[in-house]
Amino acid sequence: MFNLADKVALVTGASRGIGRGIAARLASQGATVVAAARGDHANECAAALTAAGHRADALSLDVTDAAAVEAAPGAIVARHGRLDILISNAGITRDQLLVRMKREDWDAVLATNLTATFLLARAAIRPMLKQHGGRIIAVSSVVGQMGNAGQTNYAASKAGLIGFAKALAREVASRAITVNVVAPGLVDTDMTRAINGKTHVDWAAQIPLGRLGTVDDVAAAVCFLASDEASYITGHVLAVNGGMYT
Ligand code: NAP
Repeated sequence: MFNLADKVALVTGASRGIGRGIAARLASQGATVVAAARGDHANECAAALTAAGHRADALSLDVTDAAAVEAAPGAIVARHGRLDILISNAGITRDQLLVRMKREDWDAVLATNLTATFLLARAAIRPMLKQHGGRIIAVSSVVGQMGNAGQTNYAASKAGLIGFAKALAREVASRAITVNVVAPGLVDTDMTRAINGKTHVDWAAQIPLGRLGTVDDVAAAVCFLASDEASYITGHVLAVNGGMYT
């Protein structure tokens, strides 16, 4: 559907869930996908993409390792010649009511979901500025838009991504680099399977389209924003939430 041939894309959190789906979708449209994940998961993901006939490479990356994150874009350019698309997807939850929330759970969520995106984008911008073009897409959440009890840390991190992207979009627009956010609703992955049954049903009942989102629903939106066809869209928050929040 989109032609991403000759594009090089970095996808964080590519081991499973939404990141895995984004990596597969971008690769299927012709991009060379650098699948970044912790430990051996990167190799496994890249091998699966290669076995499916796509172009892929593996990058072992914990996004809370600041030095490794800052070095990643340069290493990709050294190996593949360029970096066109950054998908900052890796994310965690550490849910708790605020009065009981431990400082370490606040810090862990902000470090993984928000600070890693800052570090990655800052490093990826350099080659994109030289190339006079690029795509930066952060995976936020409907929770960053509407809030959710028990997720002050997660909501703050995901809302932070929206402000970050809108500000950065204005900084780099003159160099044809777009910065956008995809905000999924409730998507069927390990993250939502960890929610207990009652809450899960409560959430699902709030979705006008009557079903949870799929990894492919989110990957399709990300792929569009990564494409040339989306070159006039920047600073945008694309909700992929079945209508649960507009
Ligand atoms: P998931 O199935 O739990 O997968 C999370 C991914 O993030 C995994 O690949 C995980 O790697 C990776 N990750 C976590 N911490 C990391 C770290 N320090 N360094 C590198 N990778 C790390 O979750 P998901 O549902 O696919 O979520 C993907 C993104 O979508 C997240 O940002 C999440 O907040 C967002 N989102 C999800 C939903 C939803 O309903 N599922 C809704 C809105 C937004 P490992 O395999 O190594 O743990």
